[in-house]
Amino acid sequence: MKIAFIGLGHMGSGMAANLAKARHAVRAYDLSEAAVTQAVADGCIGAASLGQACEGAEAVITMLPGGQHVLSVYSQVLERTPKGALLIDCSTIDVESARQVATQAEMAGFPMIDAPVSGGVTGAKAGTLTFMCGGPKDAFERAEPILKQMGKVVIHAGAAGAGQAAKLCNNMLLAITMIGTCEAFALAEKLGLKDQVFFDIASKASGQNWSMTSYCPVPGPVPTSPANNDYQPGFAASLMLKDLSLAMQAAAQTNADTPLGSRAHALYEALCNQGHATQDFSYMMERIRRGA
Ligand code: NAD
Repeated sequence: MKIAFIGLGHMGSGMAANLAKARHAVRAYDLSEAAVTQAVADGCIGAASLGQACEGAEAVITMLPGGQHVLSVYSQVLERTPKGALLIDCSTIDVESARQVATQAEMAGFPMIDAPVSGGVTGAKAGTLTFMCGGPKDAFERAEPILKQMGKVVIHAGAAGAGQAAKLCNNMLLAITMIGTCEAFALAEKLGLKDQVFFDIASKASGQNWSMTSYCPVPGPVPTSPANNDYQPGFAASLMLKDLSLAMQAAAQTNADTPLGSRAHALYEALCNQGHATQDFSYMMERIRRGA
C-alpha cells in the first residue's frame, strides 16, 4: 500500500520503519529533517512536505504530540489526500478534538479512525503496540491489518473518539495504581518490611496490580522495571501528566467524579515541576518516600 506517515518522533519513527519492513511504500514526513533522514535509512521514502507525503496515498497515519497539531495537520491532509483514502490518527489527544477531526474527515469523504497506542517506544520499535480504536466498523476493518503490522493487539472500542476515551481512562487508572503501589511500599519500609518481602506477599495477595508486578517502582523485585535503571524512562512523568490532563479535561466535560484521578494529576504536576519530568513515572516512589 502507499502509506503517508506524518510525525516521526520517538513513537512514529519505529512504527513507520515497521510498515516499511512489511513492504509498504511509506512516504514519511516530519517538521524535523533529521527525523525524515532517519526514516529513509529505515526504508521509508522521504517527503519534502506534508502535501508531497499525502499525494497518491491510500492511507495516511499520523503520530503527533497533541490535539492542536492533529487539527492543523488534518486540515491539510483532507485537502491533499485522494478522496476515500483511509485516515488513522495514532496520537494521544483529547476526545473532543478526535471527534471534531473525525467529523471533518467524514464530511470530506474519508473513512477515519482514532487509534492511540500503549506500549511505549520499545513497543513501537518491536511492533508490539496495543491499538485502541474508535470509528466506523468498516474503517476499523480496513485499518486492522495495517495496525497489526505495528502491534500485537488491535481492539475496536466504539465510535469516533472511543479509542482516545479508552486510552485516557486506562492511563488514569495506571497513574492511580502506581501512586497506590508507591504509598504501600513506602509505608511497608517505615514499618520495617523489606521491599522484596512485601512484594512477595502483596503480589500474591489482593493488593496485586500491574504497577507492582510488571513495573515495580522499587529496585529489586522486577529486574526489568525502570527503578533498576535509575528511573530512566520507560514512560516519562511528563507523558503521564499529559494523559492525566486529558483525562481531567474529559472528566470536567462529562461531569464525572474522579477524586483520585485529580489527586494523581496534582501529584504528577508537582513531580514534573520539581525537575523530574523526564524521569520515568515510577519515580513517584522517591517523591512519596521523601514526603511532600
Ligand atoms: P515526539 O514529540 O517524539 O514526536 C512527535 C513528532 O511530531 C516530532 O518529531 C515532531 O517534529 C512531529 N511534528 C509535530 N508537528 C508536526 C507537523 N505539523 N507536521 C509534521 N510533523 C510534526 O512524540 P512521541 O513520543 O513520538 O509521541 C507521539 C504521540 O504518541 C503523542 O501523542 C504521545 O502522547 C503518544 N504516546 C507516546 C508514548 C511514548 O512513550 N513516547 C506512548 C504512548 C503514546
